[in-house]
Amino acid sequence: MRAAIAALLAAAFLETLSPAAASAADCPGRPDALGTARTLVVNAATTPRVGRKHFPDTLPLADKELVLTFDDGPWPTTTPKVLEALKAECVRATFFLVGRNADAHPQIVRREYAEGHSIGHHTYSHPLLAHMPLAKAEAEIDRGIARDELALHGVARREPSTPFFRFPGFASNQPLLDRMQDRGIVVFGADVWASDWNPMTPEAELQLLLARIDQVGRGIVLLHDTKAQTARMLPKLLRELKVRGYSIVHVVQPPPPSQIEAGRGHRVFPFCRTAEKSSAKQACGHVRRLIFGSYAAR
Ligand SMILES: [Zn+2]
Repeated sequence: MRAAIAALLAAAFLETLSPAAASAADCPGRPDALGTARTLVVNAATTPRVGRKHFPDTLPLADKELVLTFDDGPWPTTTPKVLEALKAECVRATFFLVGRNADAHPQIVRREYAEGHSIGHHTYSHPLLAHMPLAKAEAEIDRGIARDELALHGVARREPSTPFFRFPGFASNQPLLDRMQDRGIVVFGADVWASDWNPMTPEAELQLLLARIDQVGRGIVLLHDTKAQTARMLPKLLRELKVRGYSIVHVVQPPPPSQIEAGRGHRVFPFCRTAEKSSAKQACGHVRRLIFGSYAAR
């Protein structure tokens, strides 16, 4: 039993804590670009909820490492400017899409993807889900995923090709969080945000956000690519992050099972869901408690 637990634990941790091959900033014509320092595979088996604004844990980031995320797009007047700013600095980010916006502007979704960014999901019409009946809330989530997938890959399916999700207004509840975890979807919170839902000048937003980033030192940064003030601020923000010695981490989904050798960590939780022998079920219980702490009890 002890050996089985150790093996499961080792596999599970390896899967999430080992970043994919780090790619140094390779920015043609811009040797001083901020760049993307490395990619990090994020897996619901080991980090089901990340971002200390609402959850106990965040991504395994080193000091001065940031993950940039943009919510609520795509939006035709602002998202292209955000993409230009990211491209100019060779920075890869994650966009959490609103499905009805993806429906309206699928070409921008495809551009985000083509330029190497990760595509996460943020419901269809951005309602607050916390007090909605579970089935209705999940239908809203699924409709969003399906419309994002349709824009991206031409197929409206409820299984996200990148299993990253953020609740609108961070309004989650335990049954919904459990559903996301069971489906292998990572729920992103944030560690720092620009409060860009409040109108302010780009300069004021820049100073506010930099002060907050310096305070937390690392983590997931939440911005909105639908906001003109954010789109205008972004080039200066990226420059200033470079000057202050920050580096950018790009979060990506685990590679498909066919690309992972048998027995690696991605199999831990599918295995746990289908384990039939009582000794195997017990081992899975131990692993879940050790990895997720209090979550495991639920
Ligand atoms: Zn939102």
